[in-house]
Amino acid sequence: MLSLEKREAAFVGITRERYTDTFTVFSAVQRILDAESGIHIRPKEPGFDTGRARKIGHSLEDRTVPDSTIERRARSATENFCMSHHDDCMRVNAEFRARAGLQSYAIRDVSAKCCDWCADVSGKYPANETPAGFWGRHDNCKCSILYESKRSGRQLLRGTSKKWEVVPENAGAEPLVRLTKEQAQALQEKHGTVVLTKEQALALQAVHGLTYGRKPAIIKNIELPPETDQIRSMSAETKQLISEAFDKIMGMYEVHLDQLTTEPIYKEDGKTIAKTVPFQFQPRRGKAGELIKCIVINSGYDFMDSQAELQKRIMRNFNKGALASNSIDGLIAHEIAHVITFQDIVTYGGYLVENRIISERVVEGISTYADIMNDGAECIAEAFAARICGLPISEEAQALLDEFIERKRKHG
Ligand SMILES: [Zn+2]
Ligand SMILES: [Zn+2]
Repeated sequence: MLSLEKREAAFVGITRERYTDTFTVFSAVQRILDAESGIHIRPKEPGFDTGRARKIGHSLEDRTVPDSTIERRARSATENFCMSHHDDCMRVNAEFRARAGLQSYAIRDVSAKCCDWCADVSGKYPANETPAGFWGRHDNCKCSILYESKRSGRQLLRGTSKKWEVVPENAGAEPLVRLTKEQAQALQEKHGTVVLTKEQALALQAVHGLTYGRKPAIIKNIELPPETDQIRSMSAETKQLISEAFDKIMGMYEVHLDQLTTEPIYKEDGKTIAKTVPFQFQPRRGKAGELIKCIVINSGYDFMDSQAELQKRIMRNFNKGALASNSIDGLIAHEIAHVITFQDIVTYGGYLVENRIISERVVEGISTYADIMNDGAECIAEAFAARICGLPISEEAQALLDEFIERKRKHG
């Protein structure tokens, strides 16, 4: 648990990273729209508000209020602050573009029925003539704040920090258009400011190790992290099966796993151990903004002391239809599928863009878990798990695998 005095510094550090990711995604989307309409204006960076971050961080160190107040502050102030990063991107660029001679409009949409205050400032205005308070948000604000400029499309931001949608110019009430895979890839390739060079990426891979070669012949047994031995509930047999599962799948597919660690996996609150999750794919952001693809073995999971009991637990989930796996192979396959899906993405910002695109690729009925998550990446992972377990999958699910996984199959 983070000690009281360290919260301010931690908050500043974490939100600064979020800010950088937000700007990376924003400029990526802006560049694609601009490329389409032949505009060459470099996206402007609004700058991180360190003073505001410090102030919020400091309020989390307050000893005079109960924990519940701190928790509420941590949640709503963080959300509000991170949304302001998006809003700042919108404001700075809308205003800059207006000054550069493009017809720029700022639009605040209250169709989410936010509140009277928001309704008052909502509407479409020339970017440099917005009413006072237009760019501000109260806690839990659901408004969309976006801008459009005459020769460009417009960027639309909904009331959550993760959802980016791109609307072509004059789209009116038509459905939103999202980046295609090709657009996202072109973006990765073209824009030096968004991605690392190939050399940098290779250097990073060398540092993070665990990159398997092309030929199955050079595969050696994967070594699980030494901390794995400390999981008292994990039998030697289970450990062996986990190791073999990695070997088997990495022998069949080209898998660039950057890290394999054994540590507790926490729920979204960051402090309760996720007791039902034995393994987890974690996309992590490296110091240079690179994507680190990590699989974690949960030291807080109950591996049931014997392989026979663990297998029963796996079968209970399988028989209920909750998960598509009937073996450890399947569970490991699920996590490796996430690695393969995002294998060609180099930066964390690029991951955010790609994840957003892939999340739409939902195929229903693969498993209850996949249906509940309603996320294309989970559908791919569950379909792959079923496949590795030798179970039949639907044509639609197979098509997902063909597109995202089979391209990394080793030949010969
Ligand atoms: Zn609002
Ligand atoms: Zn998953």
